[in-house]
Amino acid sequence: MNLNKEFDFKEIAVIVAHPDDETLWVGGMILMNPECKWTIISLCRGNDTDRSPKFLKVLKFYGANGTMGNLDDSPEQNPISKKKIEKLILFLLPKINYDLIITHSPAGEYTRHKRHEETGKAVSFLWEQKKIKSRQLWFFAYEDDSKSYYPQAIKNADRVIELPENIWLKKYNIITKTYRFLTNSFEALTTPKNEAFWCFRQGEKIKAMLKESQK
Ligand SMILES: [Zn+2]
Repeated sequence: MNLNKEFDFKEIAVIVAHPDDETLWVGGMILMNPECKWTIISLCRGNDTDRSPKFLKVLKFYGANGTMGNLDDSPEQNPISKKKIEKLILFLLPKINYDLIITHSPAGEYTRHKRHEETGKAVSFLWEQKKIKSRQLWFFAYEDDSKSYYPQAIKNADRVIELPENIWLKKYNIITKTYRFLTNSFEALTTPKNEAFWCFRQGEKIKAMLKESQK
């Protein structure tokens, strides 16, 4: 089955917590759909003089638009108010209407990064309130069985995409050569070979469905 063919979205917004999340969790999809108009925003690390220019380089490689915010990303990971995150998302997004919005799962991707979960929750809220709009909202669908292994695509997610070898390699090269993560880093070892997503249509109640799908 040609999953790529079923991908009928033109304008897509990707909202992530950190520069590299776009590549780890959805980079293959971006590379496989270059004709789409991608907007990618990262909520953290805008003033990180190392990561920020790398992110902009990656955007260029993807042919995407995007920008970054400066949400606190210190190791303590003190909780940030939902309001603050929502405000930042609305500030960073150049517009509110897309065909598809892709972000972190409110349940996160692995054990455990608070900013990912907070980002997923804030985007869900804005989308349910129609403060940002799209025909569908997708969450990254990965798990690590409480750190038993590096995060992997959830096999029974709504959409699972097996990446062709060359696409995976491009993604791996972005992680190791553009972002310069060492080959034995969490990021390099994680770089998923399959990408998976939970998919919601406008009007669907996210909370209940997510609970159901993760049983
Ligand atoms: Zn991250």
